[in-house]
Amino acid sequence: MFKHLLILLLFVLSVAQADVIVLDPKASTALGENAAFFVESNERLPIRSVIELYEQGSFLPANQEVLNFGMGVMPHWIAVEVSNLKSEPLQMILTIENSWLDRVDLYVVQQGELHNHYAFGDRYPFHFRPVNERLFTVAEIFPPGSTLLFFRAESPDPLLLPMFITGAEQHKVYVELDAYGYGLLYGVMLALLMYNLMLYFGIRQRQYLYYAIYLGIFVAMNIAYTGHGFRWFWPNATEWQQWANPFLMVLYSISGLMFAIAFLDLRSSLPKLTQAIFASSILILVTFGCFYWLPSGREWSLYLAFGTILISTLMMVVLGVLSLAQGNKAARYFLIASVVAALGGAITALTVLGILPYHLLGFRAVDIGTVLESILLALALADQFRRTQRQRLKAEQMARLDPLTGLNNRRAFNERAEPYWLNALRYQRNISVAVIDLDEFKQINDQFGHKIGDQALVRTAKALNKIVRAGDVLARWGGEEFILLMPETDLDEAIQVAERLRLSIHQIRIQENQADIALSASIGVATRQEHMEQLEQLIHKADQSLFKAKKAGRNRVVVAVV
Ligand code: GH3
Ligand code: MG
Ligand code: MG
Repeated sequence: MFKHLLILLLFVLSVAQADVIVLDPKASTALGENAAFFVESNERLPIRSVIELYEQGSFLPANQEVLNFGMGVMPHWIAVEVSNLKSEPLQMILTIENSWLDRVDLYVVQQGELHNHYAFGDRYPFHFRPVNERLFTVAEIFPPGSTLLFFRAESPDPLLLPMFITGAEQHKVYVELDAYGYGLLYGVMLALLMYNLMLYFGIRQRQYLYYAIYLGIFVAMNIAYTGHGFRWFWPNATEWQQWANPFLMVLYSISGLMFAIAFLDLRSSLPKLTQAIFASSILILVTFGCFYWLPSGREWSLYLAFGTILISTLMMVVLGVLSLAQGNKAARYFLIASVVAALGGAITALTVLGILPYHLLGFRAVDIGTVLESILLALALADQFRRTQRQRLKAEQMARLDPLTGLNNRRAFNERAEPYWLNALRYQRNISVAVIDLDEFKQINDQFGHKIGDQALVRTAKALNKIVRAGDVLARWGGEEFILLMPETDLDEAIQVAERLRLSIHQIRIQENQADIALSASIGVATRQEHMEQLEQLIHKADQSLFKAKKAGRNRVVVAVV
């Protein structure tokens, strides 16, 4: 199937010829399909010789809607023949939808005579451009009859030439839509950037800052390579315009990796790889710095930039996979986001390098991919935030619970009991406490083993929990000792509660090797007295009663007498 298509394609290509383009003010026509090209071999040719070469048939048909000659190639001449079939002159707009070409010359030839010459490119300050637009644009009036257009394009960057001839009205619409499109892209990105910066200043977590930096550098890189920067921000900085693209591409890659390290917390989980990434990033920056001073360094810097972007996008995916494999749940969204971004970036890179046929969507794939990535990463950050919040909450709960019985531990008891105690002190209210200690518990451990001992503690906790009233505070006080605080409870009521506790413990039966193990507990009860200032004093009183209960033969409730 594929083979047949290829043969068909070759056939179509071989019959396609450089045709004259009929000017249509209502349409936008790609010039590539009907263009012919010639590669300059050493020195720059004067236009006279180029016209001669064209007439001799030395130009080759281009046969591509959008011409792409790849990166680091010699200057190319492109010839296109257009014809105005009307009886009056027509104004048309010529555009090369690319903003990074160093030097472009356009020669307009009518009846063998040079009629007009435009020179533009980002080697010249922006005000050299014939039309104040970010893309290379020329407005030209075509008299009736035929006109020959010769473009000369020179650049170490990818020689990508999406060339179009468009009616003036049609072009206006294009420019407007283009402006809205980029407005939307930068709007989304800058909103996300500000939001994450605010989050960083609010909760001081590094990953939000790195994310904001990453977004900021993406916007800067995009502004540079789409020509918005040259037009709006640095119209005279031609040197910077030359270096901005590769430099920002490198920074973008590195900031992406720094974000990944912070977000996935790779410093602790993959320390060696993290070190290697830091070292490579520094090495790349130093190499880039060296290229700046070398004679043909800009070309090298472009290879370095494309290489860095390629490797870093792949690396982001690898880091996501490794982190996920280590059980980092936060890596899931991150991985999806980086795969989407990598796909977008790869499609754009392949389009710019001429490996994929040119399509505007392919050219803008990195933008689409990055917007989706940003949204997914914002989700990833939110997900991570939720996850850590939940973990913190759980850890806080764990710190208050006794792991065996699930009751409050001593710390939680003190925290919860304190307000009740203060309230009782201030308003002179009743408050009582019971300290419960299992009898001869050491024997149960010794006789049946620690496991059965644990089981007995769990069963006791359950039994106590059943009897405790809402508003009482129950806790595991120590090994086989429990405590119950009873606010708004006088001594008589406290005795009744304690008696119920004792009975319910006494009813517990634990089955072990056909033997029923029974438990019993001694309980000391005390209620608040006038002179008491601290809760400890009340608990101490209950402890003394407990001691008396043990001495008196266990399995009983003893009350502290005033
Ligand atoms: P008494 O009637 O005088 O209270 O005697 P007792 O054996 O209950 O008191 P003692 O304080 O001598 O022993 C308490 C025992 O409780 C000792 C310890 O091994 C056991 N114990 C403490 N915490 C745990 C626990 O978490 N699990 C188990 N299985 N045993 C525990
Ligand atoms: Mg005991
Ligand atoms: Mg004890």
